[in-house]
Order: sequence, then structure tokens, then C-alpha cells
Amino acid sequence: MKEEIQSRKTFAIISHPDAGKTTLTEKLLLFGGAIHLAGNVKARKTQRYATSDWMELERQRGISITSSAMQFNYKGYVINILDTPGHQDFSEDTYRTLTAADSAVMLIDVAKGVEAQTIKLFEVCKKRGIPIFTFINKLDREGKNPIDLMDEVEKVLGIEAYAMNWPIGMGSDFKGIYDRKTGFVDRYAGGNHYENSKAPQSGLLEDAEVQAGIGEELLHHLREDIELLDMAGNEFDLERVKKGEVTPVFFGSALNNFGVPNFLDSFLKLAPGPEPRNSNQGELDPVSPQFSGFVFKIQANMNAMHRDRIAFIRICTGKYERGMNVIHTRSHRKLRLAQPTQLFAQERTIIDEAYAGDIIGVHDNGILRIGDVLAEKDGLEFEAMPFFSPENFARISIKNALKRKQFIKGIQELQEEGAIHVFRDLNIGVEAPVIGVVGQLQFEVLEYRLRDEYGVNVEINHLPYEIVRWISKDEQKIQILKESSMSMVVLDQDENYAVLLLDKWKANWMSERYSIEFLTQPALP
Ligand code: GDP
Repeated sequence: MKEEIQSRKTFAIISHPDAGKTTLTEKLLLFGGAIHLAGNVKARKTQRYATSDWMELERQRGISITSSAMQFNYKGYVINILDTPGHQDFSEDTYRTLTAADSAVMLIDVAKGVEAQTIKLFEVCKKRGIPIFTFINKLDREGKNPIDLMDEVEKVLGIEAYAMNWPIGMGSDFKGIYDRKTGFVDRYAGGNHYENSKAPQSGLLEDAEVQAGIGEELLHHLREDIELLDMAGNEFDLERVKKGEVTPVFFGSALNNFGVPNFLDSFLKLAPGPEPRNSNQGELDPVSPQFSGFVFKIQANMNAMHRDRIAFIRICTGKYERGMNVIHTRSHRKLRLAQPTQLFAQERTIIDEAYAGDIIGVHDNGILRIGDVLAEKDGLEFEAMPFFSPENFARISIKNALKRKQFIKGIQELQEEGAIHVFRDLNIGVEAPVIGVVGQLQFEVLEYRLRDEYGVNVEINHLPYEIVRWISKDEQKIQILKESSMSMVVLDQDENYAVLLLDKWKANWMSERYSIEFLTQPALP
């Protein structure tokens, strides 16, 4: 069991949309033979074939909405890639997925540098203290100066950067990458046709033929850069990499599969396997004999053919065996994990065993919630899931009253998935709930899914509020908030009082003016 667990590498790729995450994922999967035809991204975006591409809306918009996990074997490792949607409107789901990762790969477009979404996702990883590896992509195109990019990573993100390899030229002059440890130069041949001459020669930098291929000018630049990195750059310190204080940086072109194997080999050597997790019973060693894991994601209706609901569980300790009984610690009830599925590239397969570090998807009939713990022993709790306050609110109502039942079911299930926050207006019933989401696009997804999965057409009336705060049940103060034109009092799913407010400024003012304490999330029961 120890060997199995130590061979696990579970990571997420974080990036801004369009940096090349899909392309890189496909190339990585290809190393494990997980997909036979890598297919290019263009095909992916017009055709439906990646696992994460199950939703029609995704197909139409060409974006990836859901996160799932893909597993493959490579050089004795079992690699789990957590797919994190890049669109900023799905950040809540993405953030939760990051809690299941042991390390992250930060993908940066050489021309764009560190972008907004990368910063947000980086911060979540940094907070967790997981190691972050950087891959600078699209070197086959013109981009920023690599030294400037290293500087940007350090300044914008506040992490030290250590270049593992270094690009030689870029764009139409891209000659390859130089490995700083071995002195080996991998020559880039992609994109060019060498019909009349032979393919460029890779080899040690001292090699005359390698030098001739690079050319005098670029060779000079490379030597200067390397000297600069050696003298003024950071030290490579594995312990600091593991703490997330230094990020090893790699260069390449995912589309041309160039620099990807170099990256993967280094990554597998340096990235940690499953690490001990904090719990209410102290740090739990992944190699401990008893099974435990937590739900980080719930997805309803993954397959239109059989409307099912899958809860994704990150195994934290021990081993899962098919059909095993575990305790659902929130309800203290026994649960049989009968048919866990694993998403292996495109197909779902039923698995017989899985180990700490792996992600399993189990069928759920409404018992599981995000953050729930499953373990062999009752009473176990892991660190709480991050909570994200909704910032957009709308009243949702059904167009056809006959569909009331389906509507309520849909809203309930989507709430359980963690896709929406549901509030009840004190004066209106469950037929017209107030829905809160983090990103606007989630309303579109909600509307689409209610129609597609539950057969319900809804009307969405946006409300002007931007923040929600929880309040205690103080009749007098609730009355003040009810009467104000700046706020709206609602009940959350657990019947806690909350108030929707127009903006932070007005919230602060009301809180001070009427001495009302506003909480940023519901107090724990
Ligand atoms: P995602 O939004 O991060 O998943 O990005 P995609 O993988 O869909 O890539 C966005 C675009 O960048 C696509 O048109 C890719 O073909 C292109 N792309 C990805 N990697 C490279 C690369 O190494 N070089 C070049 N020139 N284009 C790339």
C-alpha cells in the first residue's frame, strides 16, 4: 500500500483562459496512452470528446465548465490531473477542486505573462502551501523576454522563480531549450519542414554541431542569460519548492509537444505525493491503514442517458476497496461505496481499488454534501472547505406553474452541488427563491441546466445587491433592515437570517448606524 500511495501525483493546472491548459492536458494524457489521438484543441472545441466537455453549453461556448479528474500511468507513477475550468465565472468550483490537489502547475502564455485568473488561482494554492510548478507556453510564438517574465512572476505573485531550463530564441527564431542541470540542448523542430536539410541536432551545448545549429548570436545571448541566472538568480532548494516558496520554471510549446516531456519528467521527480492532511485528530499520514476522504465536488446529471449524481472524493488516507463500508461522519451513518467510477480520459470505468491521492466518483442519492468526510472511523473532520460569498443575486421564477415540483427539485439539487446559493424571501415562498452566485455566467448555466435537465423554463430577474451578510435573530434589528431601501432580509438553506446589501460602503454604514453585527458567512451550527 505504501508503494502504491507514494507513486501518486495529484495535481491541478491553473491558468488564465487560452494559455493552453486543454492542449497541455491532452499532451500529458498522451504520455500515458490515455487517449490515442491527441486531437488538437480546435477539434476539441467543435467536437465533443474530452471528459470535461459533457455539457452542451460548454460545447456551444467552447469553454470548460465542470472540473473532473483524469488518471494515467507513466514511468511507474500514477498521475491524477484535476481539471479546473479556467473561466473566471466558475471560480468557486475551481477553488474547491484545488483542495484536492497536492501540487499545481501554473501555465503562463509567454506573450501575456501573469494574467488575472492566474493570480486568483495562484493565491488559493499559496494559501494551501502546495508546491507550484511553472510552465511558460507558446515559445514557438513571439513573447516577452524570459528574464522579464521571471521577474514578473516574482513581483506579481510574490514567489521566487528558479529556471530549470531556458529558451533559446523564440517565435520564428525558436531554436530549443537548454537544460541548466545537464547542459543538454533540446532542439526545436516543430512547425518547420526539413525536407532538404536534416532535422536539428540536439546534444550538449559544447557540441559543435549543436552550436552551429543555434547560431552565433543566439548562442551569445544564451550564454549571457545563463551567466546572469547563475550569478544573480535564486538557488534551487527542493525544501522551499515543497513549501511553495520557490517555483521551478520550465519553457516549451504545448501545441508542439515541445518541452512537455522534459517538464513532466522533472515534475514527477520533484512534485510531492500525497502529504499528511490536517484534521481534528491531528495530521493524518496518507499511508495509515484506514480509509478516509472528503467530497470536494458534486455533479448532477453528468450523463444525460441516466440522470445520475456523482460525488467526487479525494482519498486522503489508506485504500478504497470496491463495496467497502464507510461512515458518513456528518450523519454518522454507514454508507456502502458500491460502484465508484473513475474518469479515465474519456470513459468512465468502475474501479476495484484506489489509494490515497486518487479521486473516485461515487453515485450519490442526495446524502453527500461538499466538504463531507467519509472514513472508516466516525468523528473525523478535515479542514473546512473555503467559503465564497456570492456577489450576484437574482430572483428566479417558473414560467409554467405546472412544473413547480421539478423546479424545486432542480434548485435543491443544484444547491447541493454547490453551484448556487439559495435564499428565501420572507414574503414569498419557494416558488421564487433568490439565488446568489459568484459569477454572472452561473445564472446562464442555471437557466440552461434547469431547462435541459429538469424541463423547466425560468425567468431571471436580477437584483441590485452585491453582498450578503449573515445576522443574528434579533427581531428589532431585522425590522430595521426590512424597512430600509438599501437591504433585503432573506433566509438561507438552514433557516439562518441573512441580509442582501447594495455594496460594501452601505453595508458598513448600516452596520455602524444601527449597531448590527454582519457576519461574512453563516455561523456554524
Ligand atoms: P485553454 O483555454 O487554456 O484550455 O487553452 P487551449 O489549450 O484551448 O489553447 C488556446 C489556444 O492556444 C488554442 O488555439 C491553442 O491551439 C493555442 N496553443 C496552445 N498551446 C500553444 C503553443 O504551444 N503554441 C501556440 N502557438 N499556440 C498554442
